[in-house]
Amino acid sequence: MFRTIFLIIGFLAGMVGHAFAAEINEIRVEGAGEYTRITLAADGELAHGIFSLSDAGMRSIAVDLHDFQIDDAANTPPPAGAVTTYEVSSKGIAFHLSHAVTVSRALNIGPTVSDPRHRLVIDLVRVSPDRFDRDAAVDVDRRAAFGGGQVPEAGEMAVASLPQAKQVIVIDPGHGGHDPGALAADKTREKDVVLKTALSLKAALETSGRYTVHLTREGDTYIEHEDRVTMARNWGADLFISIHADAAANHSVAGATVYTLNTRGQSRVDPVSSKYGWRLPVEDGTSREVASILTDLTKRETKTNSSIFAEILIPELASAGPIVRNSHRQENFFVLLAPDVPAVLIEVGFLTNRADAARLASADGRARSAKAIARAIDAYFDRPAAHTAVN
Ligand SMILES: [Zn+2]
Repeated sequence: MFRTIFLIIGFLAGMVGHAFAAEINEIRVEGAGEYTRITLAADGELAHGIFSLSDAGMRSIAVDLHDFQIDDAANTPPPAGAVTTYEVSSKGIAFHLSHAVTVSRALNIGPTVSDPRHRLVIDLVRVSPDRFDRDAAVDVDRRAAFGGGQVPEAGEMAVASLPQAKQVIVIDPGHGGHDPGALAADKTREKDVVLKTALSLKAALETSGRYTVHLTREGDTYIEHEDRVTMARNWGADLFISIHADAAANHSVAGATVYTLNTRGQSRVDPVSSKYGWRLPVEDGTSREVASILTDLTKRETKTNSSIFAEILIPELASAGPIVRNSHRQENFFVLLAPDVPAVLIEVGFLTNRADAARLASADGRARSAKAIARAIDAYFDRPAAHTAVN
């Protein structure tokens, strides 16, 4: 989803069409805990490639540059966050790491009123060592291609510099532990049904090898709502799917429902994000003007993509079982509040309806729902416009 933003920023920043020699006059590394930001400021646009590098047990993020120089006065405060040291070579700058990270965002920001320089801003977020090693394996060829002189056009530049990692799907089984959720007449508990459905979905997704799948809980434990979202963001989720089962006083009501965030929820995104530190990396270090444009674009794109996924999902769910009337609904659910992760909440059926409860109690019934959701996820990421759509 970030790709769109790079393309837009390419235009906003009014960047020139081709890379040219640029002198770096500042190298800055900031960060703490999960997040690290590298900023390279230069007098011209930096033609760069960013690669995960694993060399004899040492992990680095290599920022390779074409046609660059470094000003002697590019002296900087000591590195922070995940970066312990950095090394300048004829190829560019290698940032050595204390723990595994991935590039969550890379931005070229052109001169602004407050800063006349070109800045390359690279945000890193902690990931598992396995994820880093997969990125690094893919990046061997990408880096060789970059070294071979493939300088991307401005605007495509940041696109080309993203690691082509697997899509990350976070499945959130609702409730758990002391919170059983809804109850069926036969005492089937929502927390159990949704965990089993989530595990079935995970299995369905993992057969293709396309995705990295995380569950916010894999056992009967209660996780706070904000922690579910924080986990998804820390894992670098491309899609967040919360799974629930419904209850209604009217026992004839049956079928699945898909929820996305409503307007009231949208208005909570900013305050809740700042309360829980779900920072968009663009919110500091860039001019307020650019940061606010980026933040709005990100939120809007997240909302659009959530709706696109919901619309793809409903016909798939309908092929696996009943769905409610007006099955795409909007609500103000906390777990849908991440500013930068497309998210839906699926009520897979009504435990208060006998047929739905029987369907959800059977492994086969749950697998049908899970496979329907998996097909929708494939279709969502297979959209021809998935990397370029602007809405
Ligand atoms: Zn629920």
